Amino acid sequence: MPVGSSAAKMFQKTIHHVVRGDEDILIFEFADHTHEQEIRKNIEDALEIAKSANAAKSSFLSNMSHDIRTPMNVITGLSKLMEHELDNPAKMQEYIGKIQTSSSHLLGLINDVLDMSKIESGETRLNIEKFNLIHQIEEISMLIRQQTVEHGQQFDTYISDIEHKNVEGDALRVRQVFLNILGNAVKYTPDGGKISFTVTEEPCFAESCAKYRFVITDNGIGMKQDYMEHIFEPFSRQENSVTNRVQGTGLGMAITKNIVDMMGGTIHVDSAEGKGSSFEVILEFRIEREAEQDTRTLSEYANNETIENEILKGKRFLCAEDNELNAEILRALLEMEGASCEICTNGVEIVERFTEIGPDEFDMILMDVQMPLMNGYEATRAIRRSKNPLGKSIPIVAMTANAFADDIQQSMDAGMNEHISKPMDLQRLKKVVAKLVQK
Ligand code: ADP
Repeated sequence: MPVGSSAAKMFQKTIHHVVRGDEDILIFEFADHTHEQEIRKNIEDALEIAKSANAAKSSFLSNMSHDIRTPMNVITGLSKLMEHELDNPAKMQEYIGKIQTSSSHLLGLINDVLDMSKIESGETRLNIEKFNLIHQIEEISMLIRQQTVEHGQQFDTYISDIEHKNVEGDALRVRQVFLNILGNAVKYTPDGGKISFTVTEEPCFAESCAKYRFVITDNGIGMKQDYMEHIFEPFSRQENSVTNRVQGTGLGMAITKNIVDMMGGTIHVDSAEGKGSSFEVILEFRIEREAEQDTRTLSEYANNETIENEILKGKRFLCAEDNELNAEILRALLEMEGASCEICTNGVEIVERFTEIGPDEFDMILMDVQMPLMNGYEATRAIRRSKNPLGKSIPIVAMTANAFADDIQQSMDAGMNEHISKPMDLQRLKKVVAKLVQK
């Protein structure tokens, strides 16, 4: 019979009644059961965690099978229909547009699921590098601005009182956090609505660090109070007529929260249904003191981003791609843009071909990573060490299905200049060519 516990102790009291001669003796026994109690509590907790992990796994599988099937149905269904519409260009165009939207949704879903599972298994590490925070914010804003223009939304970025522009942190992950939050602001704000992105530097206790407050507000559909408690749970979405029509996986906010936690920051949401939402993220970074003074203005950053649409015309690519169908698509895409290419089917072949190339033969190497005989990292190292003097200077760009921050780092470590994830986005290739190839 437990009779109570002091602050941390749990005692069990037992009363023994002994009759000795004509004496009645009562013996009180106190046994310390704190340890057993702790063990029982741990077992109960572990059981609870196992039960909820199991429930999460089941809901994950059912969510996944639904979320993958939906865009797959569109892709397979419409490709079938296209066979009957070959001589109807307007219909073909419509179906192609829908197939492209569904494929990019499917790709986003796959990326999010893999990212989430990497984060949850503790495999994700932050890639700390020097970066210019203002530059990042402006790039993020530019990507979002394109979307807001399509929806006739007003989008304003306010950057004020930033004393420290150059910091050390994981720039790609910072970008992912704000693209997720701002992307949602666009999705869940009706056309013509207002979105703002405000960044301020706050006082920081440690002298070597700088602290920033990022606030994203929208006047969109907002959220119910009871849903907000679940917003950071994987696969959670607020069910309503708007979200049902807007494509999403319910993973973006879970990934965002995990990244912010990894960075030691905080994220808070404030929202009112029908009025809008506001997300506040606080992050601290180490100050990068040795960085060159960056005197470019925001509009100069913007101008740098404008890429020439015909930049691929006349460019010559040496490529490594082992998958036949991917090689065919790559060749067709490049030729469609007026570029030419020679494709090797593995790492050994491209290294051998490279040793004999002349100075004016190729502008860039596009390197697949997973290949038979020699992978893209090894091939890049071999090219960089090659006797051919071009080995030191030719731009090498990873073109791979491994799209995570760690993979990008591995490509850079091997000596590549940039990274393009598969399926290849031509706009991204154009940006990379604009950056790496002299006109
Ligand atoms: P999704 O892929 O569904 O957008 P997220 O994890 O990014 O998944 O967001 C989870 C849910 O949170 C969304 O489905 C939506 O219900 C809600 N939500 C997120 N951001 C906003 C916002 N700015 N306004 C209204 N609802 C939002």
